Amino acid sequence: MILLDGKRIAAEIHQELAVEVAQLNSRGIEPHIALLLVGDNPASLSYVRSKSRACEQVGIRSTVVHLPAATSEQEILAYIEQWNADPAIHGILVQLPLPAHVRSDTILQAISPQKDVDGFHPVNVGRLVVGLPALLPCTPAGIVELLRRYQIRLAGKHVVIVGRSTIVGKPLANLLVQKAPWADAIVTVCHSGAPDLRRYTLDADVLVVAVGRAQMIRGEHVRQGAVVVDVGINRLEDASAPKGYRIVGDVDFASVAEKASALTPVPGGVGPMTIAMLLRNTVTIAAGTAWEKPPFQ
Ligand code: NDP
Repeated sequence: MILLDGKRIAAEIHQELAVEVAQLNSRGIEPHIALLLVGDNPASLSYVRSKSRACEQVGIRSTVVHLPAATSEQEILAYIEQWNADPAIHGILVQLPLPAHVRSDTILQAISPQKDVDGFHPVNVGRLVVGLPALLPCTPAGIVELLRRYQIRLAGKHVVIVGRSTIVGKPLANLLVQKAPWADAIVTVCHSGAPDLRRYTLDADVLVVAVGRAQMIRGEHVRQGAVVVDVGINRLEDASAPKGYRIVGDVDFASVAEKASALTPVPGGVGPMTIAMLLRNTVTIAAGTAWEKPPFQ
């Protein structure tokens, strides 16, 4: 079985991006991302920290604004408007989830589509669906890039995605059905309404799991020789672990490893690829090519 090492591939991409950033610097451009965090969700705090640290490693400047949970929608919108208008800010990211009194859609739609590093704005979603160059959502793009760098071809393959969220399942399905050399897959999307998941998952050449349920997909769901991508990040309490918990995926690693020909670990699989794609989006915006270059060249 091949371990699809997202950490190693992400490090490779970071090195490539550092070169691009240096070239931009020599043209007087300093890629710069603004990250907005509202409230004190510990997972969100840790994600924003990792993103900001990764930016600095490749030479992207990051400005982090951390607001209290009670911040109003108006105050958040004021930051976004200020960053939209600031030519020195290339990317804007609002860490989700937002507190319940804030309408996420309103906030995400206020971000300029050309600074939308997360690829969640409806303009970018629409461009992706019709096959125009777009700022792609980072997790789906990271999955495609990881498979591509391991030379796992998707053309003509049956890809089964478990989970239809707007940040993973749906955009990934839209990417993989594109008529393009890096896609061209036959795609099935499953969700909680599927009466018998195994009926679909057992037919998958490539199985992508994004359900948010710890270790739900087991060996019995997987066809011998399938490629399995585990998107899940779940905290499992574990008194013996230094932090009192450990991170596991949506896939039961041990039983799936016996069936799969290739499998992503958690941590160290899709997570680092997601951050690498965030950095790449920021650099392409700074370079002015975000809506010009087709993806995955
Ligand atoms: P959501 O909760 O938004 O969506 C989960 C999806 O799984 C839904 O479509 C849901 O169906 C489906 N689902 C839930 N239970 C079942 C079931 N028993 N059978 C079939 N389908 C089911 O999750 P996200 O997409 O945001 O995240 C999924 C996981 O990926 C989480 O663990 C999250 O932490 C992780 N994640 C990791 C990232 C990374 O960088 N590695 C980035 C983003 C997320 P329905 O629509 O019917 O409710």
